[in-house]
Amino acid sequence: MARLIFLGAPGAGKGTQAMILASLQNIPHISTGEILRAAVAGKTSLGVKAQGYMDRGELVPDQLVIDLIRERLEGSDAQAGWILDGFPRNVAQADSLSALLTELAQKVDYAVNLYVPDDVLVTRLLGRGRKDDNEAVIRRRLEVYQEQTAPLIEYYETQGNLVTIEGDRAMEEVTESLKPLV
Ligand code: AMP
Repeated sequence: MARLIFLGAPGAGKGTQAMILASLQNIPHISTGEILRAAVAGKTSLGVKAQGYMDRGELVPDQLVIDLIRERLEGSDAQAGWILDGFPRNVAQADSLSALLTELAQKVDYAVNLYVPDDVLVTRLLGRGRKDDNEAVIRRRLEVYQEQTAPLIEYYETQGNLVTIEGDRAMEEVTESLKPLV
C-alpha cells in the first residue's frame, strides 16, 4: 500500500520511475499529462479545453485537472494505493488534493522530489521528441516549474513527507533508491 506524489521538473524522470514503481506494486500510475494528451488526441471536450495551454507549455486550468484527479482517485482500482505523476503542480492543486484525500480518508505517504540539474533537463527534453518538447516551449515549462511547482517542495517539507532523490543517475539506480518508499 503506497500513496506517492512525484514532484520534479519536466524531464526529471517522474513518468518513467512512477510507471516502474506502480507496476511493481500493482497500483495505478496516474499521470495528468498522459490523461490530457490522450484527451487531446481523442478531441474530447477536456482535450479541446487543454490543448492550447499544453502547446504553449502553460499549466491547464486547475479545475480541469482537479476534476480528473477526483474521478481517478475515486475509482475502485485506486483504493489500495496510487502514484501521482505531474499532479499537484501548484499550491492550489496541492490544497485541493489535501481536501480530497481527507474526504476519502487517505493520506500521502511521500512526496518525492526527483532532483535533476537544469542543463541535464534541457538535454533530456530535447532528446525526447514530444510535441511540446521544442526549445521555446521547454524553456517555458521549466519557468512554470520554477514559479509554480517548485514551491511545493517546501509545502511538503512542512508537512513532513518530503523525500529528495538524486535523479541524475542511471534509471535503475534511481529506481533502487525509490523502492523503499513503496
Ligand atoms: P507532463 O506530461 O506532466 O509534463 O504534462 C504535460 C502538460 O500537461 C503540461 O505542460 C501542462 O500543460 C499539462 N499538465 C499536466 N499536469 C498538469 C497539472 N497538474 N496542472 C496543470 N497542467 C498540467
